[in-house]
Amino acid sequence: MVVCFDKHQFNQLSKLKQLGQWTVNVFQPKSLNTTIGCIYNVSLDIDETDLQEILEKQQVSRLQRLTYYDKNTKTRVPSKTLKLFFNTAELPPRVLIGFKSHKTKLFVPKPTQCFKCQGFGHMQRECRNSVKCVRCGEDHKDRECKIKAKCANCNGDHPATSKDCPKKIENEKILKQVCKEKCSVKEARTHVLKESKQNPLQGKKENIPKEHEKISLTKGLFQQLTEFDNFILLSIMTTIQVPTLPDNVQKVSVVANMVLELLGVHVNQEYILDKLTLIN
Ligand SMILES: [Zn+2]
Ligand SMILES: [Zn+2]
Ligand SMILES: [Zn+2]
Repeated sequence: MVVCFDKHQFNQLSKLKQLGQWTVNVFQPKSLNTTIGCIYNVSLDIDETDLQEILEKQQVSRLQRLTYYDKNTKTRVPSKTLKLFFNTAELPPRVLIGFKSHKTKLFVPKPTQCFKCQGFGHMQRECRNSVKCVRCGEDHKDRECKIKAKCANCNGDHPATSKDCPKKIENEKILKQVCKEKCSVKEARTHVLKESKQNPLQGKKENIPKEHEKISLTKGLFQQLTEFDNFILLSIMTTIQVPTLPDNVQKVSVVANMVLELLGVHVNQEYILDKLTLIN
């Protein structure tokens, strides 16, 4: 494989028909030059044609507004999440829609799970394995099975579709690696297995978040919002947390850490403290 750094290089290279004694065929591998990402909080008032027009200039070849199942109307309704197909090798960090800057997130599909054998990466119609019950892992197909749960994939005490199943989590990580590195499933699997051997504790879920981890948990939520929304939320969070702290030094330090963590901006704490003494 030859990596081109720009269109000009590719155009030159694509004229090549002969390399020494060999006849060659130059083509662009499509999967290496496309990336799928998601953006959140896109107003439902903007229709798809307009979005298409705005985003075309930002390397988006196709877009799709995701839908969700609405329990009340029992239909699928449009959501505020957009799936964007970029014709770039890397995911652009942000896209602009009007004045709003939207942070992008790599799109990773859910692993396919077979209804017949409960295995991953294939579907029922192509399955050659024997039947395994989704609940107990035995060789029967019974929607109403009442036997004690035993996972067909890991023997754990949960049904094979449980989101906490370590085999399911492993397959999710493999798919993420495939999307991120654009490698084969085989290569991704080798990488994930090697990594979990090195850090056996990674992937196990911590149930109770420790005090200092709370901010990074909220960070996941912040990443889905725009900077302006972040600013508003930050203001609310500081009004709640800061009054409980004993002195200005600690108050400023807490706010500065939040601003850095959530907005990525460094705050000059000494400067702020200096200004505060003037107010007090
Ligand atoms: Zn199967
Ligand atoms: Zn069963
Ligand atoms: Zn399991």
